[in-house]
Amino acid sequence: MSELEQIRNFGIIAHIDAGKTTTTERMLYYSGKTHRLGEVDDGTAIMDYLDEERQRGITIISAAAAFPWQDCRLHLIDTPGHIDFTAEVERSLRVIDGAVVIFSGVEGVEAQSETVWRQADHYHLPRLAFINKLDRLGASFDRVCAEINDKFDHKALILQVPVGIEQNFNALIDLVACRRLTFEGEDGETVAETEIPAELADQATATRRELIERLADFSDPVAELYLADEEIPTELLRREIRRLTLENVIVPVLAGAAKRNLGVQPLLDAVVAYLPSPADVGAVTGISLKTGAEVQMPPAPDAPFSGLVFKVKANPSADLYYLRTYSGVLKTGANVFVPRTGDTVRIKRILRIYAQRTEALDKVGPGDIVGFLGPRNIVTGDTLCERNRALTYERMTFPEPVISMALEPKSSQDRDKLDESLALICREDPTLTLSRDENTGQRILAGMGELHLEINVHRLAADFHLGVKCGEPRVAYRETVQTPVETHTQFHKVLGDQELFAGVRIALRPEPNPEQPFRVENKVRGREVGKNLIQAALQALTDGLKTGGNYGYPLTYIAAELLELETQRDKTTEGAVLGAVLQALDQAIREAGTVILEPIMKLEILAPEEHLGEISNDIQSRRGLILDVTSVSRLKRTLCEVPLAEMFGFSKAIPKLTGGRGAFTMEPCGYKPVQT
Ligand code: GDP
Repeated sequence: MSELEQIRNFGIIAHIDAGKTTTTERMLYYSGKTHRLGEVDDGTAIMDYLDEERQRGITIISAAAAFPWQDCRLHLIDTPGHIDFTAEVERSLRVIDGAVVIFSGVEGVEAQSETVWRQADHYHLPRLAFINKLDRLGASFDRVCAEINDKFDHKALILQVPVGIEQNFNALIDLVACRRLTFEGEDGETVAETEIPAELADQATATRRELIERLADFSDPVAELYLADEEIPTELLRREIRRLTLENVIVPVLAGAAKRNLGVQPLLDAVVAYLPSPADVGAVTGISLKTGAEVQMPPAPDAPFSGLVFKVKANPSADLYYLRTYSGVLKTGANVFVPRTGDTVRIKRILRIYAQRTEALDKVGPGDIVGFLGPRNIVTGDTLCERNRALTYERMTFPEPVISMALEPKSSQDRDKLDESLALICREDPTLTLSRDENTGQRILAGMGELHLEINVHRLAADFHLGVKCGEPRVAYRETVQTPVETHTQFHKVLGDQELFAGVRIALRPEPNPEQPFRVENKVRGREVGKNLIQAALQALTDGLKTGGNYGYPLTYIAAELLELETQRDKTTEGAVLGAVLQALDQAIREAGTVILEPIMKLEILAPEEHLGEISNDIQSRRGLILDVTSVSRLKRTLCEVPLAEMFGFSKAIPKLTGGRGAFTMEPCGYKPVQT
């Protein structure tokens, strides 16, 4: 097996409370129990930092942890449980190659599990289902299997059945290997495989027959042996289950109770046996920076290097970046290109990050997940690549924040600590921005939604032990000009014995393009005007537009052009250009008139059909527009656009509207004029 084939990059996705944390902990525990850990390396700042994190009760596994299982190395990548802020969820789904979806054996398939399942469909992620909590009162393995079959397009392929249920649940029957599995030792760390006891043999034979019949529907070699009434070799079964899982035709279903130490090791065996390695995934698609065309990057060591930074853990001494490599080899000390900034940065140190320790690496090949230490100017979502083969895996511009909240420390002594902590949080998540209210001195944190801000404010208390007072969330309004306009002004001023002069002609026009909401272009021809002065004029234009229009909100959905710059020898300084541009801009905005724009959210609600009426009434009362209603198995997906200003409290309203069975995702989708 090649090194690439020995890697599994996977995530656990689950409804809150299904047992993701418990299962993750058990996985890491058993992997440590069965393998001797290597020497601890790296007594540097980063280790101290990670220790500090641990003391603060944050586990490093919150981002990604490597651990050995069988002859493979598994990387478990965290997928956020909240779904309000989709960019983060989507990024974590794109860096994994497969997923374990955990369902509660009592609650079964809940609306939120359906939402994440659909997101995993979007990324064509092969997956396993783990039905957990089978020891709990009211648990039913069969019922949850039926729900999976019923609600999703994948065919559920039952690979194990529980022996006993609720408090009597104590073992598993492995239908592929035809063995009974019990979990012995104090923490269930020893898996004992024995013959299936006589009293369970009939049931096991019948269920295994169902497994084979189902597999035979999709697999010719299995069908042939089955029809000939011949024994099907376990190896063939495994191979065909793997193939069909990778093709996203079936989802293998496993059983367990993580908290009771039942079923976790076979789940890990299944991750190795049935989830894809980067070799199975093959080449990934990026966008060439030069041509804008799609490029395929194969997971080959001799290909040009490329990777995606999917998480940043900010830290006062050195930031830790999590990187998914896709192609080529990255060596410690190498210089890599960052297309977003056009900079070349040096990778100081590459680290393998295990749950409890880190190990320095000289290099990392394709398809891997590692940490690295580097300079400050890398953010989450950055592609790293070679300068002459530059490409990007994600859009390079972040959407502008649409909502903001004023923050103040509860105790004035905490002021500096609050500033530091907010700066750290913003480095980790580039869709958050921080500014100061000039009048009140308050810190203003802006982000992509109410929940997005709430989660981060919560982190200030949980991770940094800071007490903060928060203002009400406020919508980030914008302005745009009503009509195209062109103005020409000249700036004259005498300062002491210096005479200043500059003349500019500029044009503004409304351009409602969410992909490029703000465009400033130079249209000055010829070489007689110096580059510095042109640059100063463009900068002044950009800053002036961001400062605000007739109502004091920054301008957006706007295209601005610098058409002409008049200069006079010795009289035209950068200051004079600034004066002229601001004068012209002021005149243009007044002449054109402006309208106030409000941020609009794209909202997707998944809920049972009987609640459609309530949902539709609620959306309309929020000035929303329903764009589409589609069926997703037995649920309805309502797609709508709602002004953000009306979305406050929606996350609390949705469970009431749907009896707890609705789930939603929301993301900014541009601006519309405020209707007055
Ligand atoms: P998460 O929200 O998905 O991360 O879920 P947790 O792992 O935090 O589990 C939620 C709750 O369910 C906790 O109280 C766990 O102790 C409990 N739990 C998790 N797995 C099991 C299980 O297999 N059986 C039982 N009875 N409880 C479990």
